[in-house]
Amino acid sequence: METYRAFHRRSLEDRDAFWSEQAKLIDWHRPCDQVLDYSRPPFARWFVGGRTNLCHNAVDRHLEARGGQKALVYISTETGEARSFTYRELHLEVCKAAAMMKALGVGKGDRVIVYMPMIPQAVFAILACARLGAIHSVVFGGFAAASLAARIDDARPALMVTADGGSRMGKPVLYKSLVDESLRLATHAPKKVLLFNRGLDPNLTWVRDRDVDWKNAEKDISSATVGCEWLESNEPSYILYTSGTTGRPKGVQRDVGGYAVALASSMKHIFCGQAGETMFTTSDIGWVVGHSYIIYAPLIAGMTTILYEGVPIRPDAGIWWKIVEQEKVSVMFSAPTAIRVLKKQDPSYLKKHDISSLRHLFLAGEPLDEPTHKWISEALGKPVIDHYWQTETGWPLLSAMPGVEKTPLKMGSPSFPVYGYDVRLLHEGTAEQVADGEKGVVTIQPPLPPGCMSTVWGDDERFVKTYFGGFRGRHVYSTFDWGIRDRDGYYFILGRTDDVINVAGHRLGTREIEEAVNMHPNVAECAVVGVQDALKGQMPLAFAVLKDPGKGTSTQEVMETVDRQLGAIARPKAVHFVTLLPKTRSGKTLRRSIQALAEGRDPGDLTTIEDPGALEQIRQAIQEEKR
Ligand code: ATP
Ligand code: MG
Repeated sequence: METYRAFHRRSLEDRDAFWSEQAKLIDWHRPCDQVLDYSRPPFARWFVGGRTNLCHNAVDRHLEARGGQKALVYISTETGEARSFTYRELHLEVCKAAAMMKALGVGKGDRVIVYMPMIPQAVFAILACARLGAIHSVVFGGFAAASLAARIDDARPALMVTADGGSRMGKPVLYKSLVDESLRLATHAPKKVLLFNRGLDPNLTWVRDRDVDWKNAEKDISSATVGCEWLESNEPSYILYTSGTTGRPKGVQRDVGGYAVALASSMKHIFCGQAGETMFTTSDIGWVVGHSYIIYAPLIAGMTTILYEGVPIRPDAGIWWKIVEQEKVSVMFSAPTAIRVLKKQDPSYLKKHDISSLRHLFLAGEPLDEPTHKWISEALGKPVIDHYWQTETGWPLLSAMPGVEKTPLKMGSPSFPVYGYDVRLLHEGTAEQVADGEKGVVTIQPPLPPGCMSTVWGDDERFVKTYFGGFRGRHVYSTFDWGIRDRDGYYFILGRTDDVINVAGHRLGTREIEEAVNMHPNVAECAVVGVQDALKGQMPLAFAVLKDPGKGTSTQEVMETVDRQLGAIARPKAVHFVTLLPKTRSGKTLRRSIQALAEGRDPGDLTTIEDPGALEQIRQAIQEEKR
């Protein structure tokens, strides 16, 4: 572990030299005057005075050496389409999109809402914004009209780019009426809407003088070349709203230079992706993982990136591995929630395809429980790397870094602090660092490294108050997650700070209990929440999805599994079997809503929920328990 340790130490102790070296991984139109300006804590300004452009680094700079290489491979198992674009073709498409936007009045600093399904035009639009110096704000396609309107009013866009619809499980998800509705609801609706018509909506309607047909507009400017706007490193590149698991979404604002450098360096040191190779990230462009690792990072690295529109089990549970085989994927990035979906399927699909090109599978987004980590590692016979980050950080903050050193993996652990991050586990009350083996809040001693959020869009005060206000006036960035570090220096994430259960004075993380429930061989996934209890203060309540519901697994067996792992203190008051857990559209369990239902309260804002039927099952289970 010495190589990693020295690397990490140097990133903090010799910070400026370390990051100026990393900065060489990207192209600069003008080099910076100062590596870091930290004169106004906690605001960190990286590569001050440097000028660069994200689109140039993702596209233009590769034209000479790899213009004929595939840049973007689009595969839709929803519509059956498959297309690829070389770097040269991508450049042309992005220039056309930029020219269209320019013609619609978009310029540097203007916001553009991108509300798009997983189609190449979404990538063109996003890169076109970067090219023009416009600030994109991608909103996950399928968010309800009210959520979209709230984001429109916060960002005040000059333009909205959308499509007639997306598709899920072979069924069209129509966007347009929802877009119209959101623009009616919004106070700061954009004057123009650029719409790419995929032909999914036979009743598509156009609003005169507002809606512009992408395909028509494109015809007028087919030979356009639009140059890259050279931006000062700290100018905003995009706004991305957090997924809203814990409340009102925050507009995370990111810079240009720091973000590009962080992503480029992460491809080298963490993901080990090289120019000419292929990366497959199964997320959505509407989430931070999609921004960083479907679009920007693999392209900055000169790789081929896969844009997959579809689910992991259609046409069958082997589709991902088929893509890996076909495209010779070497780096893959997914989420624990998707792996748990696969766990419920026939495991033989994992063996059907030749995945020898694959070096690592990276997983992030939710705690990766030990049984699932083990299951997928063994099934694939490849290293599966759990890594931990947030929309706010933009790239991993805890991870193994095989590009630095191949440290051994521990199941259930995202390994170590990534270089640049001064991670500390702090005691909630005293704000002192906790000892190894003790729970603490995962915090970062500022300045935050390059790539992290620069502020909350339009609200510096909210940025400082929300993230840096928790520890007695000291400027410490809080992740609002609990963690623990073992004697070997490995970190484990125990769940969110508001997901702690207090049973008769014992503080238990929901994650620990979930992990124990998952130890039962027939449990595919579960959610544990704390509910009020007259006697003990709080009691855990478990909802579990079984791999095979026909096996006759009893709730008693599951409780005994918990007893064996954690002791009777953690034993759930009840275990309910459901077929589905309520999740956000980004795959995060809505524990807050489950808890509210269990305590007879209103489940709160549910606009981000994936399938409302899941909450209905929870409601019924709780009613039955009361009877
Ligand atoms: P909001 O902040 O609006 O409530 P959110 O926190 O769900 O939404 P994201 O930024 O997408 O939005 O999620 C980051 C969170 O996901 C982390 O703070 C952590 O709770 C969880 N997470 C991400 N990766 C991991 C991981 N590898 N292990 C455990 N938890 C993880
Ligand atoms: Mg969060």
